[in-house]
Amino acid sequence: MSENIKVVVRCRPMNQTEKERNCQNIVEINEFAVSVTNPSARISQQKKFIFDSVYNMKTDTEVIYDEMCYSLVESTIEGYNGTIFAYGQTGCGKTHTMQGDENFSNSTGIIPKCFDHIFERISMTTNVRYLALVTYLEIYNERIRDLLNKNENTNVINHFLKELPGIGVSVPTLTTQPVVNANQCYDWLHFGNKNRVTAATLMNKNSSRSHTIFTITLEQSPFLNSIGSDAFGGICRGKLSLVDLAGSERQRKTGAQGDRLKEASQINLSLSALGNVISSLVDGKAKHVPFRDSKLTRLLQDSLGGNTKTLMISCISPTDIHYDETISTLRYASRAK
Ligand code: ADP
Ligand code: MG
Repeated sequence: MSENIKVVVRCRPMNQTEKERNCQNIVEINEFAVSVTNPSARISQQKKFIFDSVYNMKTDTEVIYDEMCYSLVESTIEGYNGTIFAYGQTGCGKTHTMQGDENFSNSTGIIPKCFDHIFERISMTTNVRYLALVTYLEIYNERIRDLLNKNENTNVINHFLKELPGIGVSVPTLTTQPVVNANQCYDWLHFGNKNRVTAATLMNKNSSRSHTIFTITLEQSPFLNSIGSDAFGGICRGKLSLVDLAGSERQRKTGAQGDRLKEASQINLSLSALGNVISSLVDGKAKHVPFRDSKLTRLLQDSLGGNTKTLMISCISPTDIHYDETISTLRYASRAK
């Protein structure tokens, strides 16, 4: 089972603020291990964690893609479901990893790399016809927002989840866009991102407090052969879910009131539900996988476990000021091992 669930850690470089504050680097990386020194312990104290891979601040997203994402994406093209998550404290590189930074063309993220990979593969395939569909949604306070629907800036639509036999969990009211090349995928990604920012401003909310899921569904049907019967029979469907999770930082208990408190507890709820689902899948022996505990895990129910592939990329900062959050991220990631 856990063959299908991989967990890696990515440590970002020190940022300007950390440099200006003369922060200490407390993270040491050695292929599969990450060791973190407790900055406030009098006697040197290090905690060590082992993962499927650990990437240091110099590693490009491309390397992570080739080593960890490539085969997962291949299997979605072959008709299996797969999920890639970015987890971690706000500011540690989740969006950088998933989407890339628009200003730096050489640091393209995993999502655009998936687009390129999928459409390159499709263009090389001659005996199968593909239909590719994308959706992009946000989960905020346990409510789903359709990022591909412009009207949702002003109208709040209540999206419900439906369990459809043979298809899995779906959100019937969600916009589904057909795409025929990677450029159309980028366009929808940008469209959704803009929509997300506009709504965040209108509603005075912080986008690091929501989860986003971009999905690409690939339906393949064989071309009819010369006799007129199909060569392989049936339609095969693979779905790739690309998830940028809400910041995992603990919310300050004091001061958080009303909306902020509600936000914080909903995020804690969905991240811990996800952790519980993944650890019970890894365990393999658990009879009950608690998918129903949050919108996030319900939505991903058909894309976690079974013969699906999952990759969790846990993003951390290298510095002493984030020691507590770094340890908490590494502990969360270790549970999935
Ligand atoms: P998050 O989405 O986890 O809140 P971001 O991806 O927005 O964090 O990253 C915060 C900042 O750090 C961004 O300016 C981003 O470009 C930079 N950054 C994050 N990871 C890296 C990395 N591996 N290499 C270079 N810059 C990075
Ligand atoms: Mg982000």
